[in-house]
Amino acid sequence: MVLKTFYISFLILLFSSCYKGEEVDLIVHNAQIHTMDNGKIVQAMAIKNGKIIELGANRQILNKYRAKKEIDAKGKEIYPGFTDSHGHILSYIDKKLSVDLTGSTSYLEMVYKIKNYLKKDSPKIIIGKGWDQSLWENKELPNNTILNRYFPKIPVCLYRIDEHAVLVNNAMLDLLKLDTIKEIQGGEIVKNNNKPTGILIDNAIPLLEKHLPKHSKIKKIEAIKEIENELLSYGITGVHEAGISYEDLIFFQSLVKDNVLSLNIYAMLLPEPKNIDFAKKNGPYKNKNLSIRSFKVFGDGSLGSGGALLKKGYTDDTSNYGQMLTSIKKIEELSMVCESTGYQLNTHAIGDSMCHVIIEIYKELNEVNKDHRSRIEHVQVIDKIDLVKLGLYGIYPSIQPSHAVSDYRWAEKKLGKKRMKNAYSYKNILESAGIITIGSDFPIESPNPFKTIYAAVKRKNTNELPTKGFIKDQAISLNDCIKGITIWAAISSFDEKRLGSLEEGKDATFTILEKPIVVSDKFIDNQSWKTFILGIEKYSRENL
Ligand SMILES: [Zn+2]
Repeated sequence: MVLKTFYISFLILLFSSCYKGEEVDLIVHNAQIHTMDNGKIVQAMAIKNGKIIELGANRQILNKYRAKKEIDAKGKEIYPGFTDSHGHILSYIDKKLSVDLTGSTSYLEMVYKIKNYLKKDSPKIIIGKGWDQSLWENKELPNNTILNRYFPKIPVCLYRIDEHAVLVNNAMLDLLKLDTIKEIQGGEIVKNNNKPTGILIDNAIPLLEKHLPKHSKIKKIEAIKEIENELLSYGITGVHEAGISYEDLIFFQSLVKDNVLSLNIYAMLLPEPKNIDFAKKNGPYKNKNLSIRSFKVFGDGSLGSGGALLKKGYTDDTSNYGQMLTSIKKIEELSMVCESTGYQLNTHAIGDSMCHVIIEIYKELNEVNKDHRSRIEHVQVIDKIDLVKLGLYGIYPSIQPSHAVSDYRWAEKKLGKKRMKNAYSYKNILESAGIITIGSDFPIESPNPFKTIYAAVKRKNTNELPTKGFIKDQAISLNDCIKGITIWAAISSFDEKRLGSLEEGKDATFTILEKPIVVSDKFIDNQSWKTFILGIEKYSRENL
């Protein structure tokens, strides 16, 4: 009898361990997993070696696998890790290591912030970031008179929020030796009565760079870890870094080599000679979480500083049409480099004229390679005639909905009522292209994807402005917006085999959100409860 009981329990044990056969690293169950794979929602998934092994109902997964670790998601929503398709980690580092002028409501508030900063730090040159004169009483670009009064000796460089204009004092201008500089293509040293006002625009800005002190690697790494943690706290696991120099490329390579950075980085190279050599030598490059196979070129400037290239003059300054920052010839040469190296071309184009120019260049690319996936970054003003060509020539629009609900205050003043029909027209853009990739353009805007979603779907900022929504008929659906930060973001960076949706064989890179994503009439903030990259927990609110 004893023997028989022993025999039966042995059989049960054998049977159950066979049944619960394969050992995996992690099971997540009791969740609402939005796979972004054709709308499929499941309850559980099994993960091994950083990849998803199987998705399905709770019982199906829990019965089939044994796991070293199990997470009960308590019914929470899970999404593929979000991607910010247009961000600037490097500028965010600079911003963290300089005076933060964001949100200053007057020139004097800016001075006050600098004075406060100087109580804690004593730099050789003061660098500030984030002013926006459209928040001030006088909304015109400032001059440096006040700055010279408060800071007569120490050089000061203050970047406008979009970094397309910088305000510098006379002590800084002295360093630049302007009398040796002739004309600047695609840039301007603004003058009044032949004297510089202290404003430098677009291609005049690099004149400053060689005079600015470099941050130490240690300080940069400290800042980047802070930034990574902030992004992970929103469920962001990847960034399309919109424009890096060769020096930055080396920096990113070293971060990835030393495992300092976990985020997936899709870095767009600026078209400088060393970067072009890199592309020619390496072709599409991938090392761990760093992927490089695109160039970012500045077509025009920004609308806020009057640099975006328009077909007709600015409504508030009719003689100004904006400007091209890179010549058509140079963009065409770069597009040939892209063609021969298998790289993607991502062009910053804001004005309707610039969008037209770049679409015509992409048309030629499309004739040689239908899968070029060339992107237009921003697409803020686009004519109806050009709009249809997005789909026709396989062009990928890359949009930042938060810009729309920041710019609404002055956009009509610059563009006029009639042209507003072609501005921030994300719904039309999506209808034409069939795909959009979505980002925030941080640190110009907040990287918080829930703010981006609110801006895209409700066309309002988090102050609930404008009250009726900005050009409300151009809102896109919640589902399309989430696609724009997951699966479409992956496709727009040639990474759809690995990222963008939760499917068997793909990366176990996902976020478990604190609250479900809903779009109600008031902004509800949200955050990640836990964020995983390749099956490893990189962020948890429980650790806070
Ligand atoms: Zn940008």
